[in-house]
Amino acid sequence: ESQLNPNYSFENFLEGDSNRLARSAGLAVAAKPGGTSFNPLLIFGGVGLGKTHLAHAIGVDIKDKHPEKTVLYISAEKFTQQYIDSVKKNNRNDFIHFYQIIDVLIIDDVQFLSGKSGTQDVFFHIFNHLHQNGKQVILTSDKAPVDMQDIEQRLLSRFKWGLSAELQNPDFETRVSILRNKLYRDGVEMPEDIIEYVAKNIKSNVRELEGAIISLIAQSSFNKKEITIDLAKTIVEKFVKNTKREVSIDYIQKIVSDYFQMDVDTLQSKTRKRHIVQARQLAMFFAKKLTKASLASIGSQIGKRDHATVLHACKTVDNLSSTDKQFRKYVEDITKKLSV
Ligand code: ADP
Ligand code: MG
Repeated sequence: ESQLNPNYSFENFLEGDSNRLARSAGLAVAAKPGGTSFNPLLIFGGVGLGKTHLAHAIGVDIKDKHPEKTVLYISAEKFTQQYIDSVKKNNRNDFIHFYQIIDVLIIDDVQFLSGKSGTQDVFFHIFNHLHQNGKQVILTSDKAPVDMQDIEQRLLSRFKWGLSAELQNPDFETRVSILRNKLYRDGVEMPEDIIEYVAKNIKSNVRELEGAIISLIAQSSFNKKEITIDLAKTIVEKFVKNTKREVSIDYIQKIVSDYFQMDVDTLQSKTRKRHIVQARQLAMFFAKKLTKASLASIGSQIGKRDHATVLHACKTVDNLSSTDKQFRKYVEDITKKLSV
């Protein structure tokens, strides 16, 4: 009913420098839901770094310590869908009322609300009601509030009221403990040098870290092979290659400039020649779309521009690809090249 997954507990959420602030804030909120200044508590960070896990852990711990409280976990996507359904069925007020009587509301991946003004509006009212009544709100997002786009200002300012805590890439020690803990829970033994090899080579995504260990165990048990460092190498390579394909801003600039048969310096130059400006805007657009970099960081890497220029570029590309056939072809071609 609360939609909480008991396996996503604090106990199973290994602590490290990368998550200490977020984890401790989560524990504080769980001890006194609505009674700390961390309201809302917003947990942000990249893919696979534990946002969903930590959000559940807080909810699970609250249910444990305060069984009388109603706790609800929901993804922003599902919340949006429910809202749309309620409008269709003419019971928008029931929808609002349902959420306003919850003690602890956990909404995962709020970046999904970008550009959805109806849902943002209804969430704004629910949020205000809960907050005024001392109820706890916990949010997760793939970006910090300052980097969120197409979210109404009044909602963004609410997001900043409490605490925003980042989940960063775990360091080597933490990656090793996460793997050891997972193996222990699954009752699997694995040589220490192999655990360390995997932890050393998969750095930026805990889900992939676990994925590599799971394939390693599967490969060895289905093929009755011993778990050797060579087997570990083959498996890790697959994961690392996949991650590398998640592309860097340098790679995007290279692909875009090759496509327009210019070099990267030209793409970055100050010129206002139309085809060069367009190439630069496309590079910015793809950097925004395919990397986790902030607007400011994209701008500084693509010819030292500021974040407003990048934002403008993204909007221009959006507009042109819906009005200009030739331009849409550029976007499609480059998308294909970037996903090879
Ligand atoms: P996100 O929501 O940020 O994409 P998830 O919460 O889905 O990430 O985490 C991905 C996987 O990594 C999950 O299986 C989760 O249990 C695991 N994980 C992430 N961080 C930790 C951690 N600190 N300790 C143990 N497991 C972790
Ligand atoms: Mg998640």
